[in-house]
Amino acid sequence: MSTQEDLTVEQALAMVLTGVEPLPSEKVPLGDALGRVLADPIAAGDSLPPFANSSMDGYAVRAEDIQTAANDSPISLKVLTDIAAGFVADVVVRQGTAARIMTGAAMPQGADAVVPVEDTNEPWRDSERPLPDTVLIRRAVQKGDYVRPIGEDIEAGQLVLDAGHILRPQEIGVLAALGVSNVPVHRRPRVGLLATGDELIPVEQALEPGKIRNSNSYAQAAQIATLGAEPVNLGVARDRESDVRHKLALGLEEGLDLFVSSAGVSVGAYDVVKAVLEKEGNVGFWRVRMRPGKPLAFGNYHGVPYLGLPGNPVSAMVSFERFVRPAIRKLAGFSDLDRPEVSVVLQEEISSDGRETYVRAVVTRTADGYKAISTGSQGSNILTSLVKANALVIIPEGVRQVEAGTVLRALMIDWPETVF
Ligand code: AMP
Ligand code: MG
Repeated sequence: MSTQEDLTVEQALAMVLTGVEPLPSEKVPLGDALGRVLADPIAAGDSLPPFANSSMDGYAVRAEDIQTAANDSPISLKVLTDIAAGFVADVVVRQGTAARIMTGAAMPQGADAVVPVEDTNEPWRDSERPLPDTVLIRRAVQKGDYVRPIGEDIEAGQLVLDAGHILRPQEIGVLAALGVSNVPVHRRPRVGLLATGDELIPVEQALEPGKIRNSNSYAQAAQIATLGAEPVNLGVARDRESDVRHKLALGLEEGLDLFVSSAGVSVGAYDVVKAVLEKEGNVGFWRVRMRPGKPLAFGNYHGVPYLGLPGNPVSAMVSFERFVRPAIRKLAGFSDLDRPEVSVVLQEEISSDGRETYVRAVVTRTADGYKAISTGSQGSNILTSLVKANALVIIPEGVRQVEAGTVLRALMIDWPETVF
């Protein structure tokens, strides 16, 4: 589908998301799996815990032997052996006997409960201490007390994590406990990054008349990296179609999953990205009714999905937030693609031009809910308007003026640590 009409943000985002699919899976070592998305379900090969074990340092007993035990009428049991974590005892706890046992050690046969050391006349946790011949039990425990049964957490064969699950530190821990040393995850998106413009010079170079430093390549590479994807820098193309074509050809050789370029997509005489995409690509749309960021190209270049961001640094970053970020998350296998959103009470009057407007704002939590204030000058070249912001407050389409006190939606770009 191709359209020359301006799309709403919602329509444009829907088209972008239709144009990308989750990447195939690959197996990665567990130590590299943090932040990735599971591509296949994980079933437990073993139970967790894999054997019944003690949850305390104590004495493994038969609960029925000590039902009448109390502080003033302790019951004496013969101590058979000492069981440390990591070892299995070859004893059987029969009537009138007990085994000293440490936290995490396997329960010996015959025992069905543990009496903590503090409820005996041998209240020491020191495994170096000589084993007493007998122990006085000062209280009754019930069957199963202080025993972690086999499979208490996870039973062998059980589905533990479904496909699509995000691997946080706790999931990594579970996979480690189950011995999953290689994890099937969606491949990391490789995103080619192209800046365009005759005015751009490298950041390490001294300024020259009429030139500016190429900040977009760095900002977008950082945005890509923040998503756990891999930025592949294709450099800067001059405002000539041949140069754009050449740089994109390098990207095709790299086997990229997505192209992201900045600038050259508006209607100026030098908007060469637009020209190249129109000739050699497949263009879905050119313009979105949003502010900042009206010019925005989506399509594909020789089969690779392509998002052409506006050149103005703030427009590029906000358009990235709105379109590239969800696309990369979809490629990476995530199903929740959007930033968390809260309702905020605007603290000032703001005007708009009727396009869906993304106000760079500071959102803070107060006793009466969240409130938002803009970060000042909202020009699409004012990079510091984003530096101060933790949210993008949305003025809906068609609205030209919002009064102080209006309730609006805010996309939290930093959450939650910076909201207080
Ligand atoms: P354009 O979309 O080519 O009309 O560019 C719009 C504005 O963004 C111009 O002021 C450009 O100088 C600026 N711009 C374009 N690319 C970059 C970049 N990579 N870094 C910083 N500013 C840029
Ligand atoms: Mg330009």
